[in-house]
Amino acid sequence: MVIQIVGVVGAGQMGNGIAHVCALAGYEVLLTDIDAEALEKGRETIEKNLDRQVSREKISDADRNEAMNRLSTTSTLADLGNCDLVIEAATEREEIKDKIFAELVPTLKPETILTSNTSSISITRLASKTDRPEKFLGFHFMNPVPVMSLVELIRGIATDEATFETAMGVVERLGKTAAVAEDFPAFIVNRILMPMINEAVYVLYEGVGDVRSIDKAMKLGTNHPMGPLELADFIGLDTCLAIMNVLHDGLADTKYRPCPLLTKYVEAGWLGRKTGRGFYDYRGDDPVPTR
Ligand code: NAD
Repeated sequence: MVIQIVGVVGAGQMGNGIAHVCALAGYEVLLTDIDAEALEKGRETIEKNLDRQVSREKISDADRNEAMNRLSTTSTLADLGNCDLVIEAATEREEIKDKIFAELVPTLKPETILTSNTSSISITRLASKTDRPEKFLGFHFMNPVPVMSLVELIRGIATDEATFETAMGVVERLGKTAAVAEDFPAFIVNRILMPMINEAVYVLYEGVGDVRSIDKAMKLGTNHPMGPLELADFIGLDTCLAIMNVLHDGLADTKYRPCPLLTKYVEAGWLGRKTGRGFYDYRGDDPVPTR
């Protein structure tokens, strides 16, 4: 199947990045969000990030302008009915994703491929609630999407080979590399990464180290480009907690118990960079630890 029009649902940090790379790769892109402000912010972010790529000579002025011309936004989900591929990148809550698919599916062409950028939720279960489990798969980008080269591709139990091959072709056209994961909670990247981040929060909670020490120790001690708490803020603490809950529920092992301190930050609405405060406070010139 030839993919020409890509729909992206959710214009948050992942959705706007996905729309950005798809438009740059030559696809017509239709981006939507339930929140008009988030949609406008998503569009502005794409423009700003394309400008940055021009100033760093990664792309030309013409590439930037053509990508912006290929990008449209809409606040009506049904407008995505004509898309060949839809990538759902809304908030990491299963009931939200189910609702989106339920509303979207009746408007789609029968051949449209439906995907989710979920970090952890069962692709098989999401797919089973649509009319096309064989044309459904996990399309998991990394953050920030324009910079990170990996896409995890996750087959649900029913995903057919043609759908998988088409998705692989899209990954290649985006200039990215796929790693194939089986459909088990949090797949590969987050199955390994999130317990490490959760453990870093336990280390903070138990007073073994403060925020700066933990991040410094892991950056300099293991050569990670970002410390785990800084990375958690970057990902979004709500997303980190949601993934830990999926691991805990899905694998039923106490080693995945979300740290109560992570829950407390989420309850406070301190979700990391996207809300201005998490393990660091980003509201001033330099990030300041909040503990
Ligand atoms: P985010 O909070 O930045 O954005 C989510 C967006 O979804 C918001 O703009 C919200 O308004 C929108 N939304 C909520 N309900 C909606 C609906 N019914 N219809 C349309 N839009 C709706 O979150 P994010 O970090 O971009 O994460 C989005 C998805 O990507 C999640 O499934 C997450 O697990 C996954 N993901 C996140 C990361 C990361 O590092 N943050 C990495 C890979 C995958």
